[in-house]
Amino acid sequence: MATSVRNPVWNRDELTLALDLYVKTVGNPTGADFALVDQLSNTLNKMHRLSGVTGAETLRNRNGVYLKVMNFRRFDPAYLNQGKVGMQRGNRLEAVLWAEYDGKARDLAIDAEAITRAVNGADEAKVAKLPPAEPYEGEEGGVIIRLHKRYERDPKLVREKRKAAIEAGSLACEVCGFDFEAAYGKLGSGYIEVHHTRPVHTLKKGAKTKLGDLAVLCANCHRMAHRTPLPLSIDALKQIVLSKEEL
Ligand SMILES: [Zn+2]
Ligand SMILES: [Zn+2]
Repeated sequence: MATSVRNPVWNRDELTLALDLYVKTVGNPTGADFALVDQLSNTLNKMHRLSGVTGAETLRNRNGVYLKVMNFRRFDPAYLNQGKVGMQRGNRLEAVLWAEYDGKARDLAIDAEAITRAVNGADEAKVAKLPPAEPYEGEEGGVIIRLHKRYERDPKLVREKRKAAIEAGSLACEVCGFDFEAAYGKLGSGYIEVHHTRPVHTLKKGAKTKLGDLAVLCANCHRMAHRTPLPLSIDALKQIVLSKEEL
């Protein structure tokens, strides 16, 4: 008996791309637009492979992608004003994204481009060798951030950055000055987290990460850096910590 594999629910990044395609095809992909549907299908399949997600053979195929794109009709006044009713089934996130990007087609296009670049620019063989990054709270489905965090856990980079920091005199957090060895003694010796200060999707394909693009942060500052949709800069974090102290 064949076992049925369920396909994962559409995540935020995927729906962002679907909504972008909906807007770009003015809510009605026809003819040549199917090349775009196929492109999106390929991108989404790669996104899932990068995340180690498997699904049925139908996973994000042309038909599934088309239906998902058309699902946005149920929010579209241009469609509803014709007295038509869109498909009523869909996930809550679709409504959230529609509201978020309503009247902001440019923001949508920029975000969609960033996601597409992060996925298409990722080297699957290389990513497969990186340690997995556990998702932080509220981060479900953020492929850019997940990739970003996997890149920054690359053991070779971490080793090199730690070495450079020690040679420069200190393994203390660049934002708050926390020093694991000072706080935990031998247990904390040599421990620090490495953070990419440049979001992964801004890097050119195949570009090597420079040590100067990396910062050493304590676990708390690192989490705070990732609390915003795009990682905060070290200066921005320092500012926050400083102004807090002056209160
Ligand atoms: Zn810190
Ligand atoms: Zn980071």
